[in-house]
Amino acid sequence: MDTALFLDICRENSLPCGEPEARKLSDFADFLLAENEKYNLTAIREERALMLRHLCDSMTVIPLIPEGARVLDIGSGAGFPALPLALLRPDVTVTALDATAKKASFINAAASKLALSNLAAVSGRAEELAHDPAYREAFDIVTARAVSRLSVLSELAAGFIKPGCRLLAMKGDPSATEEELRAAEKICRTLSLSHEETKLLTLTDAGAGESLTRSIVIMKKTAPTPASYPRRYSQIIKN
Ligand code: SAH
Repeated sequence: MDTALFLDICRENSLPCGEPEARKLSDFADFLLAENEKYNLTAIREERALMLRHLCDSMTVIPLIPEGARVLDIGSGAGFPALPLALLRPDVTVTALDATAKKASFINAAASKLALSNLAAVSGRAEELAHDPAYREAFDIVTARAVSRLSVLSELAAGFIKPGCRLLAMKGDPSATEEELRAAEKICRTLSLSHEETKLLTLTDAGAGESLTRSIVIMKKTAPTPASYPRRYSQIIKN
Protein backbone atom coordinates (compact mmCIF):
# COMPACT_ATOMS: atom_id res chain seq x y z
CA MET A 1 0.00 0.00 0.00
CA ASP A 2 1.17 3.52 -0.74
CA THR A 3 2.10 4.88 2.71
CA ALA A 4 2.52 8.51 1.59
CA LEU A 5 -0.91 8.52 -0.04
CA PHE A 6 -2.42 6.97 3.08
CA LEU A 7 -0.85 9.69 5.25
CA ASP A 8 -2.32 12.33 2.90
CA ILE A 9 -5.79 10.82 3.26
CA CYS A 10 -5.37 10.74 7.07
CA ARG A 11 -4.43 14.44 7.03
CA GLU A 12 -7.36 15.28 4.77
CA ASN A 13 -9.62 13.77 7.44
CA SER A 14 -7.73 15.17 10.46
CA LEU A 15 -6.94 11.66 11.66
CA PRO A 16 -3.58 11.70 13.46
CA CYS A 17 -1.18 8.97 12.32
CA GLY A 18 2.61 8.88 12.55
CA GLU A 19 4.80 7.57 9.76
CA PRO A 20 5.91 4.35 11.53
CA GLU A 21 2.25 3.55 12.28
CA ALA A 22 1.25 4.27 8.68
CA ARG A 23 3.97 1.88 7.49
CA LYS A 24 2.62 -0.83 9.78
CA LEU A 25 -0.95 -0.22 8.59
CA SER A 26 0.41 -0.50 5.06
CA ASP A 27 1.93 -3.88 5.85
CA PHE A 28 -1.36 -4.93 7.38
CA ALA A 29 -3.29 -3.85 4.27
CA ASP A 30 -0.88 -5.78 2.03
CA PHE A 31 -1.29 -8.87 4.20
CA LEU A 32 -5.09 -8.51 4.18
CA LEU A 33 -5.28 -8.09 0.40
CA ALA A 34 -3.01 -11.12 -0.11
CA GLU A 35 -4.96 -13.36 2.31
CA ASN A 36 -8.22 -12.13 0.81
CA GLU A 37 -7.23 -13.81 -2.46
CA LYS A 38 -7.20 -17.16 -0.63
CA TYR A 39 -10.41 -16.85 1.39
CA ASN A 40 -13.03 -14.19 1.84
CA LEU A 41 -12.14 -11.63 4.50
CA THR A 42 -13.46 -8.40 3.03
CA ALA A 43 -15.49 -7.29 0.03
CA ILE A 44 -13.16 -4.31 -0.42
CA ARG A 45 -10.40 -5.48 -2.75
CA GLU A 46 -9.05 -2.18 -3.95
CA GLU A 47 -6.15 -0.61 -2.06
CA ARG A 48 -7.30 3.01 -2.12
CA ALA A 49 -10.86 2.17 -1.09
CA LEU A 50 -9.46 0.07 1.76
CA MET A 51 -7.51 3.07 3.10
CA LEU A 52 -10.61 5.22 3.51
CA ARG A 53 -13.34 2.66 4.14
CA HIS A 54 -11.47 0.35 6.49
CA LEU A 55 -8.40 2.07 7.95
CA CYS A 56 -9.56 5.70 8.25
CA ASP A 57 -13.08 4.70 9.25
CA SER A 58 -11.67 2.49 12.03
CA MET A 59 -9.57 5.41 13.28
CA THR A 60 -12.64 7.60 13.88
CA VAL A 61 -13.40 5.74 17.10
CA ILE A 62 -10.00 6.45 18.67
CA PRO A 63 -10.80 9.81 20.36
CA LEU A 64 -13.72 8.14 22.16
CA ILE A 65 -11.56 5.53 23.93
CA PRO A 66 -10.39 6.43 27.44
CA GLU A 67 -6.71 6.11 28.36
CA GLY A 68 -5.71 2.55 29.27
CA ALA A 69 -9.13 1.10 28.44
CA ARG A 70 -9.81 -2.60 28.09
CA VAL A 71 -11.70 -2.85 24.78
CA LEU A 72 -13.76 -5.65 23.20
CA ASP A 73 -14.47 -5.41 19.48
CA ILE A 74 -17.49 -7.57 18.59
CA GLY A 75 -17.62 -8.98 15.05
CA SER A 76 -14.18 -7.71 14.07
CA GLY A 77 -14.16 -9.49 10.72
CA ALA A 78 -10.77 -8.76 9.19
CA GLY A 79 -9.85 -6.61 12.21
CA PHE A 80 -11.92 -3.42 12.01
CA PRO A 81 -11.74 -1.34 14.08
CA ALA A 82 -9.72 -3.65 16.42
CA LEU A 83 -6.39 -3.66 14.62
CA PRO A 84 -5.96 0.04 13.73
CA LEU A 85 -7.15 0.86 17.25
CA ALA A 86 -4.59 -1.44 18.93
CA LEU A 87 -1.82 -0.16 16.67
CA LEU A 88 -2.51 3.54 17.19
CA ARG A 89 -3.32 3.25 20.90
CA PRO A 90 -0.64 1.16 22.62
CA ASP A 91 -2.16 2.20 25.98
CA VAL A 92 -5.33 0.14 25.38
CA THR A 93 -5.79 -3.64 25.36
CA VAL A 94 -8.01 -4.93 22.58
CA THR A 95 -9.81 -8.26 22.35
CA ALA A 96 -11.24 -8.93 18.89
CA LEU A 97 -14.16 -11.36 18.76
CA ASP A 98 -15.58 -13.00 15.67
CA ALA A 99 -17.91 -15.93 15.12
CA THR A 100 -15.79 -17.09 12.17
CA ALA A 101 -12.64 -18.93 13.30
CA LYS A 102 -10.76 -18.03 10.09
CA LYS A 103 -11.24 -14.32 10.74
CA ALA A 104 -10.05 -14.61 14.34
CA SER A 105 -6.93 -16.51 13.20
CA PHE A 106 -6.29 -13.92 10.51
CA ILE A 107 -6.34 -11.17 13.16
CA ASN A 108 -3.98 -13.14 15.42
CA ALA A 109 -1.61 -13.71 12.49
CA ALA A 110 -1.70 -10.00 11.63
CA ALA A 111 -1.11 -9.01 15.28
CA SER A 112 1.95 -11.24 15.50
CA LYS A 113 3.29 -10.01 12.11
CA LEU A 114 3.04 -6.42 13.36
CA ALA A 115 4.30 -7.35 16.86
CA LEU A 116 1.13 -5.98 18.46
CA SER A 117 1.14 -7.35 21.98
CA ASN A 118 -2.05 -5.45 22.96
CA LEU A 119 -4.34 -7.26 20.47
CA ALA A 120 -5.68 -10.81 20.73
CA ALA A 121 -8.52 -12.36 18.79
CA VAL A 122 -10.91 -15.05 19.94
CA SER A 123 -13.44 -16.93 17.89
CA GLY A 124 -16.87 -17.41 19.37
CA ARG A 125 -20.37 -16.02 19.46
CA ALA A 126 -20.92 -12.87 21.47
CA GLU A 127 -24.20 -14.11 22.98
CA GLU A 128 -22.37 -17.15 24.43
CA LEU A 129 -19.10 -15.53 25.48
CA ALA A 130 -20.99 -12.77 27.31
CA HIS A 131 -21.98 -15.39 29.94
CA ASP A 132 -18.35 -16.43 30.54
CA PRO A 133 -17.24 -14.97 33.89
CA ALA A 134 -13.88 -13.99 32.39
CA TYR A 135 -15.67 -11.72 29.92
CA ARG A 136 -18.75 -10.67 31.90
CA GLU A 137 -18.75 -6.93 32.68
CA ALA A 138 -15.00 -6.94 32.05
CA PHE A 139 -14.65 -4.18 29.43
CA ASP A 140 -14.47 -0.38 29.60
CA ILE A 141 -15.51 -0.06 25.97
CA VAL A 142 -17.22 -2.35 23.48
CA THR A 143 -16.85 -1.39 19.83
CA ALA A 144 -18.67 -2.96 16.88
CA ARG A 145 -18.59 -1.81 13.28
CA ALA A 146 -21.19 -2.95 10.78
CA VAL A 147 -22.52 -5.64 13.13
CA SER A 148 -26.32 -6.13 13.29
CA ARG A 149 -29.01 -3.54 13.86
CA LEU A 150 -28.88 -1.76 17.22
CA SER A 151 -31.70 -3.77 18.79
CA VAL A 152 -29.61 -6.93 18.28
CA LEU A 153 -26.16 -5.44 18.87
CA SER A 154 -27.23 -3.89 22.19
CA GLU A 155 -28.08 -7.30 23.55
CA LEU A 156 -24.91 -8.92 22.12
CA ALA A 157 -22.80 -6.20 23.76
CA ALA A 158 -24.43 -5.30 27.09
CA GLY A 159 -23.17 -8.25 29.16
CA PHE A 160 -19.52 -7.41 28.37
CA ILE A 161 -19.66 -3.77 29.47
CA LYS A 162 -18.72 -2.68 33.00
CA PRO A 163 -21.52 -0.63 34.56
CA GLY A 164 -20.86 3.06 33.87
CA CYS A 165 -18.99 2.20 30.65
CA ARG A 166 -19.91 2.39 26.96
CA LEU A 167 -20.82 0.74 23.68
CA LEU A 168 -19.58 2.51 20.54
CA ALA A 169 -21.68 1.25 17.61
CA MET A 170 -20.11 2.29 14.32
CA LYS A 171 -22.74 2.61 11.65
CA GLY A 172 -22.89 3.45 7.98
CA ASP A 173 -25.73 5.56 6.65
CA PRO A 174 -26.66 7.98 9.49
CA SER A 175 -30.20 8.37 8.13
CA ALA A 176 -30.99 4.82 9.26
CA THR A 177 -29.59 5.33 12.77
CA GLU A 178 -32.57 7.18 14.31
CA GLU A 179 -34.96 4.46 13.23
CA GLU A 180 -32.62 1.76 14.60
CA LEU A 181 -32.47 3.60 17.91
CA ARG A 182 -36.26 3.78 18.15
CA ALA A 183 -36.52 0.05 17.43
CA ALA A 184 -33.95 -0.66 20.17
CA GLU A 185 -35.62 1.47 22.88
CA LYS A 186 -37.41 -1.33 24.69
CA ILE A 187 -34.51 -3.79 24.85
CA CYS A 188 -32.15 -0.98 25.85
CA ARG A 189 -34.39 -0.16 28.81
CA THR A 190 -34.24 -3.81 29.89
CA LEU A 191 -30.45 -3.78 29.51
CA SER A 192 -29.97 -0.37 31.20
CA LEU A 193 -28.30 1.02 28.10
CA SER A 194 -29.00 4.67 27.53
CA HIS A 195 -28.31 6.61 24.35
CA GLU A 196 -25.80 9.35 25.13
CA GLU A 197 -24.99 10.78 21.74
CA THR A 198 -24.69 10.02 18.04
CA LYS A 199 -21.56 11.42 16.40
CA LEU A 200 -21.92 12.17 12.71
CA LEU A 201 -18.80 11.94 10.59
CA THR A 202 -17.77 12.60 7.02
CA LEU A 203 -14.79 10.84 5.51
CA THR A 204 -13.40 12.08 2.23
CA ASP A 205 -10.79 11.17 -0.32
CA ALA A 206 -11.12 14.07 -2.73
CA GLY A 207 -8.47 12.63 -5.05
CA ALA A 208 -10.62 9.54 -5.55
CA GLY A 209 -13.90 11.52 -5.58
CA GLU A 210 -15.07 9.73 -2.43
CA SER A 211 -17.19 11.15 0.37
CA LEU A 212 -18.78 8.91 3.00
CA THR A 213 -21.11 9.70 5.87
CA ARG A 214 -20.91 7.63 9.02
CA SER A 215 -22.22 7.65 12.56
CA ILE A 216 -21.05 6.39 15.90
CA VAL A 217 -23.86 5.68 18.35
CA ILE A 218 -22.69 6.01 21.95
CA MET A 219 -24.64 4.03 24.57
CA LYS A 220 -23.84 4.12 28.28
CA LYS A 221 -24.59 1.17 30.56
CA THR A 222 -26.07 2.48 33.78
CA ALA A 223 -26.65 -0.75 35.77
CA PRO A 224 -25.59 -4.42 35.70
CA THR A 225 -27.07 -6.60 32.94
CA PRO A 226 -29.76 -9.08 34.12
CA ALA A 227 -28.20 -12.56 34.34
CA SER A 228 -30.55 -14.03 31.72
CA TYR A 229 -29.17 -11.64 29.04
CA PRO A 230 -28.04 -12.03 26.35
CA ARG A 231 -30.62 -14.64 25.37
CA ARG A 232 -30.22 -17.23 22.63
CA TYR A 233 -29.65 -15.73 19.17
CA SER A 234 -33.00 -16.96 17.85
CA GLN A 235 -34.68 -14.97 20.63
CA ILE A 236 -32.49 -11.90 20.26
CA ILE A 237 -33.39 -11.40 16.62
CA LYS A 238 -37.11 -11.49 17.43
CA ASN A 239 -36.82 -8.01 19.02
N1 SAH B 1 -16.32 -5.18 11.94
C1 SAH B 1 -15.89 -5.67 10.64
C2 SAH B 1 -16.75 -6.83 10.11
C3 SAH B 1 -18.20 -6.54 9.93
S1 SAH B 1 -19.10 -7.92 9.25
C4 SAH B 1 -15.88 -4.51 9.67
O1 SAH B 1 -16.44 -3.47 9.97
O2 SAH B 1 -15.31 -4.65 8.57
C5 SAH B 1 -19.82 -8.61 10.74
C6 SAH B 1 -18.92 -9.62 11.43
O3 SAH B 1 -19.55 -9.94 12.67
C7 SAH B 1 -18.72 -10.91 10.67
O4 SAH B 1 -17.34 -11.17 10.55
C8 SAH B 1 -19.41 -11.97 11.53
O5 SAH B 1 -18.74 -13.20 11.55
C9 SAH B 1 -19.42 -11.32 12.92
N2 SAH B 1 -20.55 -11.68 13.78
C10 SAH B 1 -21.88 -11.59 13.50
N3 SAH B 1 -22.63 -11.98 14.54
C11 SAH B 1 -21.77 -12.33 15.54
C12 SAH B 1 -21.94 -12.82 16.87
N4 SAH B 1 -23.16 -13.04 17.37
N5 SAH B 1 -20.83 -13.07 17.62
C13 SAH B 1 -19.60 -12.86 17.10
N6 SAH B 1 -19.38 -12.39 15.84
C14 SAH B 1 -20.44 -12.13 15.06
